[in-house]
Amino acid sequence: MTQTKVTWHGHACFTIDMGTKIVVDPFLNGNPKADITPDEVKADIVVVTHGHSDHLGDAVEICKNNSAELVTMVELAWKLAEENPDLKVHDINISGSATIKGVRVSSVQAVHSSTYNGEFVGPPMGVVIGRDFRGHQADSTRREYLNRAGHLGEFRIYHAGDTGVFKDMELIGDYYKPDLSMLPIGGHYTMGPEEAAIACRMIRSRYTVPMHYNTFDKVMSDPGVLADLTRKDKSTEVIVAEIGKEMIFDDSGKMVA
Ligand SMILES: [Zn+2]
Repeated sequence: MTQTKVTWHGHACFTIDMGTKIVVDPFLNGNPKADITPDEVKADIVVVTHGHSDHLGDAVEICKNNSAELVTMVELAWKLAEENPDLKVHDINISGSATIKGVRVSSVQAVHSSTYNGEFVGPPMGVVIGRDFRGHQADSTRREYLNRAGHLGEFRIYHAGDTGVFKDMELIGDYYKPDLSMLPIGGHYTMGPEEAAIACRMIRSRYTVPMHYNTFDKVMSDPGVLADLTRKDKSTEVIVAEIGKEMIFDDSGKMVA
């Protein structure tokens, strides 16, 4: 049985180890809550949801240090590739996917904005990340798992990026069936906990980790509000992640540590 290890590094930055190592939105330099520096990140894949500096962060440096491949929205990908000709970019757009070292990163809608050096660089996105089984011969164990889970993969993660709540989150829940969702709750620039509770009802993932809060004065928030609201309607189990502490999930989607 393979496990998935997930660690929050403050704001919207997570490292994910599915055998292949992934980092999402690596804003570390300048992030007062970050527990690691960019040179400590080990990654095969760097995922960036949009161009704002608190998400793009140290992505280019981490790619260079690790010879990692960058996955982001097409307009931002092209800009970064122009500035860094050696960068290996996957320039996807909404509903598109990139598969790298057995991991599939799919782009989904986010309702927000995206700029880089003061210029608009396409829409922002959320991402769904999971191991990719398409093209493999399904053995009986795997088929049994797929039947139970109802989707083509093992443990699956939805990182919403920066977003407001929107009705098509229901579609993300229906189609991608994430086991774990990472949702912003800081308010001001994104959903607050009350909007995130509405999102949880539509996405229906087993676990939800709140993010993008308590980094700066404008995004102060209480994850307990989301935990209370979702406990009432049983839409998800909120995990209030501790920065730097690894969370481990097995392939049935259960948190084991
Ligand atoms: Zn942000």
